[in-house]
Amino acid sequence: MPYPTQPTASHFINGAYVEDTDGTPIDVIYPATGEVIATVHSATPAIIEQALTSARAAQAAWAAMTGTERGRILRRAADMMRDRNHDLSVLETHDTGKPYQETSVADATSGADALEYFGGMAATLTGEHIQLGEDWVYTRREALGVCVGIGAWNYPTQIACWKGAPALACGNAMVFKPSETTPLCALKVAEILHEAGLPAGIYNVVQGLGDVGAALLEDARVDKVSLTGSVPTGRKVYAAAAAGLKHVTMELGGKSPLIVFDDADLENAVSGAILGNFYSSGQVCSNGTRVFVHKDIKEAFLTRLADRLATAVIGDPLDPATSFGPMVSERQMQIVLSYIAKGQDEGARLVCGGTRVDRAGFYLAPTVFADVTDEMTIAREEIFGPVMAVLDFDDEQDVLARANATEFGLAAGVFTRDLARAHRVAAGFEAGTCYINTYNDAPVEAPFGGVKASGVGRENSKAAIEHYSQIKSVYVRMGDLEAPF
Ligand code: NDP
Repeated sequence: MPYPTQPTASHFINGAYVEDTDGTPIDVIYPATGEVIATVHSATPAIIEQALTSARAAQAAWAAMTGTERGRILRRAADMMRDRNHDLSVLETHDTGKPYQETSVADATSGADALEYFGGMAATLTGEHIQLGEDWVYTRREALGVCVGIGAWNYPTQIACWKGAPALACGNAMVFKPSETTPLCALKVAEILHEAGLPAGIYNVVQGLGDVGAALLEDARVDKVSLTGSVPTGRKVYAAAAAGLKHVTMELGGKSPLIVFDDADLENAVSGAILGNFYSSGQVCSNGTRVFVHKDIKEAFLTRLADRLATAVIGDPLDPATSFGPMVSERQMQIVLSYIAKGQDEGARLVCGGTRVDRAGFYLAPTVFADVTDEMTIAREEIFGPVMAVLDFDDEQDVLARANATEFGLAAGVFTRDLARAHRVAAGFEAGTCYINTYNDAPVEAPFGGVKASGVGRENSKAAIEHYSQIKSVYVRMGDLEAPF
């Protein structure tokens, strides 16, 4: 591998790297060149068994430690991630193809934020005292047990940490399965956690495709599954979890609206649309891909957008000057190209992009369609690539109804200088994460997640604690107990 930080085996189980070459080989392809840079092996039943056995065996002692002790380890891991940010960012770039300009500020750093935040919170997790006359009840906030995390390929380090940090802070053990497209980064998260003092078996990583995820979450020893993935996968995973009455967090896809009113600061609105469509080459679940622009400013908006997109630096993702990289895989690029063809077939106006970039790797030019209507495929389905659909509007109530007319409900944004309107529209959005005059911020302090088909539960913030712990009530009688017989 052409960088210094490669994981040394396919899986990380019980505090150590583990290999089992009987598993199906999975090639890791560098999206910027199409070259195979590593090969991992899918987890065999023996590997899955090892991971679940070690997680189950280690969990009770981890939960019995004080929150301060658990938190100290997480915070130490956060510091180590920050110290190693450069190497981790280079690894993230090789796993995903995202430019170093992004990975050096958005991946290991975001993972470290989660470890620091939930590490700090671990010692504050308590139950409550409920007085009932002279009797009383106290509650204990307890771990769920063994949690399975299943990741998508767009933010492999971040997802491994966003799921791991709250799970571990609450006293759970985790078995994490990365997407088979980006298997490397979660292994480094596991390695760092253990170097920071995490007991063996508390954070394990196993590789594989959907069948490995399915095998994990169907096991009776597993108490919870947290998935980041598409809506179709979410339906399958939710159904399997329901069969076992397991807890779930579902962070799924979206087709989020971004409404730009005619009084908006145009430059900021264009910035929001760029951040909400082209960061990570458009492979962000919360992207505002339906951009509703007031008809009076539409042409000015499109002109300014096209001017600014022309300044994107498309190239080697390891060059710090590069601001726009390849898609994660040939397959994802082909999916996006098929949506671009549908946009053209259905009559949308191609403003810019629409084609592959003439270089090796899976590069697509930033693409903008105008004159998009609500019925067009590109306005209804999640594309998960650098394709923005611009739609016209002229009435607030009408555009809000159109913004909400989707099965998804992950995020939504509004650009306007009218404060009352901004809050009115935000209140009206059917979405879990809303933005006023900004887009796609995801600080660990704020809850993140979707409504409707976009998800169940929340990641980040205090809200995540509710999804990785459960409450036990203990009734205490102080006097004699009466009974009818
Ligand atoms: P997928 O839904 O294809 O896969 C997600 C994960 O689930 C992968 O690890 C996959 O394994 C695994 N998986 C697939 N089938 C099953 C199954 N039956 N049981 C258990 N696990 C299974 O999503 P992508 O990886 O293609 O990621 C893109 C999607 O993720 C987009 O829809 C995007 O919107 C969403 N996403 C949501 C986010 C959010 O926070 N709401 C954030 C980021 C992405 P494998 O792929 O290895 O086969």
